[in-house]
Amino acid sequence: MSRIYNFSAGPAVLPEEVLQEAADEMMDYRGCGMSVMEMSHRSKTYDEIIKTAEADLRSLLSIPDDYEVMFLQGGASQQFAMIPMNLMKNKVADYIVTGQWAKKAYQEAQLYGKANKIASSEDKTFSYIPDCSDLPISPDADYVYICENNTIYGTKFKTLPNTKGKELVADVSSCFLSEPADITRYGVMYGGVQKNIGPAGVVIVIMKKSLITEDVLPGTPTMLRYKIHADAQSLYNTPPAYGIYICGKVFKWIQKMGGLEAMKKHNEEKAKILYDFLDESSLFKGTVVPKDRSLMNVPFVTGSEELDAKFVKESKAAGLENLKGHRSVGGMRASIYNAMPIAGVKALVEFMKKFEMENK
Ligand SMILES: *Cc1c(COP(=O)(O)O)cnc(C)c1O
Repeated sequence: MSRIYNFSAGPAVLPEEVLQEAADEMMDYRGCGMSVMEMSHRSKTYDEIIKTAEADLRSLLSIPDDYEVMFLQGGASQQFAMIPMNLMKNKVADYIVTGQWAKKAYQEAQLYGKANKIASSEDKTFSYIPDCSDLPISPDADYVYICENNTIYGTKFKTLPNTKGKELVADVSSCFLSEPADITRYGVMYGGVQKNIGPAGVVIVIMKKSLITEDVLPGTPTMLRYKIHADAQSLYNTPPAYGIYICGKVFKWIQKMGGLEAMKKHNEEKAKILYDFLDESSLFKGTVVPKDRSLMNVPFVTGSEELDAKFVKESKAAGLENLKGHRSVGGMRASIYNAMPIAGVKALVEFMKKFEMENK
């Protein structure tokens, strides 16, 4: 077996221990004589898997009892619609547009009501987070929406916006469980799991229970109502059962690593190695304003498209994969999620140094 260092933005690297455990349990899950993929989601065995996953997530993030945890499908993109359909009671919401994912959510919300773009960083290709301390929040806004970590551009909100009392809705797909978070500051925190937590096919929604009501926009399909899923504890219909099982294993792995404080330290240490090098390199340059840099996604360029392409090609040959930047921005991007070991980032920096020497 040989594994490369995988810098993919998503689906992305998972902890080897988790993959190994899943492999060991593939044919016979703990004496059941079948795989988790093959078992009824109504079985006692599966019930324990999903309940344990929820309990472990609750303990990792200290999720209070007045918040619901839902394991849903449709990816983060489906939430772009589900959120306005369920929460736009006044048909007004404010969006802070800091990248493509926030922009897509903003555009989707326009299908259901009045979505206001109250701040944006598009003027400088989303390379920074705007000052959100005193924004023109709409008096009748049902919520204020952010994408907390911008996967494509590599920026992160280091302080949450001042929502002036409105509920905060945050897409945390690419920074989920990368550091501690105070859930009580959010009305909704949600994310697709394929960036930092598990296999594609699961989206986790953590939502204040008081926001989950039957009062949704007319025509909202049953499957897109939070109340339906909350009342059925994510078992209204067949959930993405195998994916949830892997998420559960990743929660246990994070606990074993020391929880979210330890995860944050680990991530800061990794990101520092890469950012320090970018700051001193004469060839490579980070593209994000330093104070808004993400710990998870690190975009960089050489300044020459030709050299960028050469770098992507040669790094792949050296066992460092998926370093090509998003098609909308070009250059390179290293996604260094929780499961990326420090050795992977060190190997990347060593390779960059060598490439710099050879291409001066
Ligand atoms: C990847 C990503 C999405 C889209 O996720 P899908 O599961 O493919 O719909 C949305 N938001 C952010 C921040 C992402 O990184």
